[in-house]
Amino acid sequence: MSTNLARTQDATAREVRQRLEQERQTRASQLAVLEQAAGRAPQGWAEESDHTRMDNLRQSLAEIDAALQRLRDGTYGGCEGCGKAIPEGRLEILPYVRFCVKCQARAGRPGR
Ligand SMILES: [Zn+2]
Repeated sequence: MSTNLARTQDATAREVRQRLEQERQTRASQLAVLEQAAGRAPQGWAEESDHTRMDNLRQSLAEIDAALQRLRDGTYGGCEGCGKAIPEGRLEILPYVRFCVKCQARAGRPGR
């Protein structure tokens, strides 16, 4: 576990940070567009689905910020459930994921 985490920190921390920041930017701009549209709509007229999307984007942004914080703390890549290293393949698909597959399933939440 520790070797895997150390390798992640040394070799790919910069790459991961770049990816996270990119994802962050994409979502932040999507959110800004939706918020603008919702702001133009009369009170209560924004689509329900838009609110759901905005909530999802805000949630993702919070997760990305948390992942960036873990990167700074040096705890990135570890599962918050069992403390084991999250497989690199999983981190590649979901760079801000907090749980390994098992713990995610136990938490009963989707991966995104
Ligand atoms: Zn786990």
